[in-house]
Amino acid sequence: MSDKKGRVFSGARPTGRQHLGNYFGAIQNYVALQQDYDCVYCIVDVHALTTMETTENIRQNTLEMALDWLAAGIDPAQSILFVQSHVPQVLELHTYLSMVSPLGKLSELPNFKEEVKNHPNNVNYGLLGYPVLMTSDIVLYKTNVVPVGVDQQSHLEFARETVRSFNYRYQTDVLIEPQMKLTAFPKILGTDGKAKMSKSLDNHIEMASTPEETTQRVMSMLTDPQRLRRTDPGDPDVCNVYSLHKIFSKPEDVERINRECRTAEIGCVQCKRLLAENINSYFAPYREKRAALEEKEDEVWDILADGAKRASAIAEQTMIEVRDAIGLAPRQRA
Ligand code: SF4
Repeated sequence: MSDKKGRVFSGARPTGRQHLGNYFGAIQNYVALQQDYDCVYCIVDVHALTTMETTENIRQNTLEMALDWLAAGIDPAQSILFVQSHVPQVLELHTYLSMVSPLGKLSELPNFKEEVKNHPNNVNYGLLGYPVLMTSDIVLYKTNVVPVGVDQQSHLEFARETVRSFNYRYQTDVLIEPQMKLTAFPKILGTDGKAKMSKSLDNHIEMASTPEETTQRVMSMLTDPQRLRRTDPGDPDVCNVYSLHKIFSKPEDVERINRECRTAEIGCVQCKRLLAENINSYFAPYREKRAALEEKEDEVWDILADGAKRASAIAEQTMIEVRDAIGLAPRQRA
């Protein structure tokens, strides 16, 4: 490990092309963390299987996600970027950790209850064991720090407890208890102005959209519902277009829109056009880089293969220590 503050691990399911919510909810933070930490970033395709009805698009979605992460600034020269299923040691560790994971605890976790509600016809064993697999992802790479949002706190607390249980049961200290880096991510609402931005709700704006597609999506955004006519004054505080202006526009423009919306000096069409322009300018360098990467798909797969090789080296060392701590028969005689 280098002289950085420690190792960070984070993963996300391969959901394909990323949207603004993904960018501000994870990717931007991933890029920033590279400054201070050795980062291990994983596209968790095995996790995706717990709720997936078809695997038809999983390869393409993995590629699209890698393209987005790389183009947005994840640097494979300093961080490890790989696909979860390419390092199968995680599945072995998942089995060992499942022996110290109480069923009662797993079934009480809020995310499990939520998933049961969302997928009542597919409550599978993998879904219940999801936090155990997540713990395996984290500890396999000797992670010190995990960036989490408020809604993931219970999973990380579960991971910490599992590490303590394993270390206690086998009287060892091979597994590192990860620290939580609680990060407040801005909540990005979708174009409907109500729900969190999400592909499944089709209320999203993709980072990789063309400027025309972006403009089209922005122009379809719902605004202050009280502003029925151009001459009606509006309330920017209830308008998601204004929330996005606060992220993408210059402070003086944000201040002007706030004022002119309330006096009906600015219309919603003009306000949205400016937002679309600013989103397009913000993502222009990323889009240029992504387009260049798309031309070199083989290089992207090579980056992922190299990441898996580097991740495997750490994983195998951890597993040698784990198997030894459990007391399993050695694979090779000394
Ligand atoms: Fe929203 Fe802008 Fe219309 Fe005001 S002018 S309601 S901030 S879109």
